[in-house]
Amino acid sequence: MENVAIIGSGCAGLTAALYTARASLRPLVLTGTQPGGLLTTTTVVENYPGFPEGIGGYELMAQMQKQAERFGARVKFGTVEAADLSKQPLVLTVDGEPVEAETLIIASGASHRHLGLESEQKLENKGVTYCAMCDGALPIFRNQPLVVVGGGDSACEEALYLTRFGSIMYLVHRRDALRASKIMAERTLAHPKIKPIWDSVVTEVLDPKQDKVTGVRLKNVKTNAETVTACAGVFVAIGLIPNTQLFKGVLDMDENGYLLPRRGSATNVPGVFVAGDCADHVYRQAVTAAGMGCAAAIEAERYLAHRD
Ligand code: NAP
Repeated sequence: MENVAIIGSGCAGLTAALYTARASLRPLVLTGTQPGGLLTTTTVVENYPGFPEGIGGYELMAQMQKQAERFGARVKFGTVEAADLSKQPLVLTVDGEPVEAETLIIASGASHRHLGLESEQKLENKGVTYCAMCDGALPIFRNQPLVVVGGGDSACEEALYLTRFGSIMYLVHRRDALRASKIMAERTLAHPKIKPIWDSVVTEVLDPKQDKVTGVRLKNVKTNAETVTACAGVFVAIGLIPNTQLFKGVLDMDENGYLLPRRGSATNVPGVFVAGDCADHVYRQAVTAAGMGCAAAIEAERYLAHRD
């Protein structure tokens, strides 16, 4: 029987592991299919406090894991396939094997929605990215035309953020009006470096043969006209998908699948806590996820101390 099982090994999960390990609870961390979480897919992390020169996303997560393990956390590669939270102990099915736990911290993160193009996949991290704040400052994007795909708050935020690096930001949206909040939409469209391309979808990212981004092929959905726009980077911001499908109908969540804690990080099921991107569509930063992981760990520890 585990004191604490943690689903996810990103910033939230590993910080929860560090805190519960230091509380002598020997947490079990189940990594999911992407050990280290989304941050491992970025190059340099420049906004995590404590690293004035920045730190590689992979390295940061490896260090976090090492730190948690030093105090007794156990990190196991595994995917949670099912969760029975209807009674104590809570039971997870991990790669076919049951894991019983008194408390559970869900830090399963969120995945970037992809366009679903083969060329997009081939050029991921070679000019195609899903996080302007992580990658926007890279030299390959400096003073270059860049494409941002999407019409929501994220796309606007990404485009505005990128104006400090790129020469011109093409905001490619599949409709002729932004979904983003009014203030964000107005700010975005008023910016002299942002040029919207309406009613258009990316049909191909160029050029996998050169192993780098040189442009995008666009299709106007109203006229079917095809054009090519030259750019050095493609920032896809068409929404995130929280990794919470497992808990549908069991834990409170909003219409987009983000978990809704009731008080602090506690959920509607006693002993189950949430942290990080699976419960946060507002901040979505490494450091805020780490903070939420810390809070969930403290709550799990208090729950265990007071449960009888
Ligand atoms: P979102 O609001 O769901 O917007 C996603 C955008 O991507 C939409 O414009 C959508 O087009 C487009 N899209 C979806 N699938 C697509 C596809 N396959 N191909 C092309 N375009 C596609 O997602 P988000 O912008 O990530 O925001 C998520 C939530 O976080 C929202 O509640 C948002 O308000 C919030 N948020 C807030 C802030 C802020 O306040 N500063 C910043 C970021 C996020 P359609 O419009 O046609 O559906």
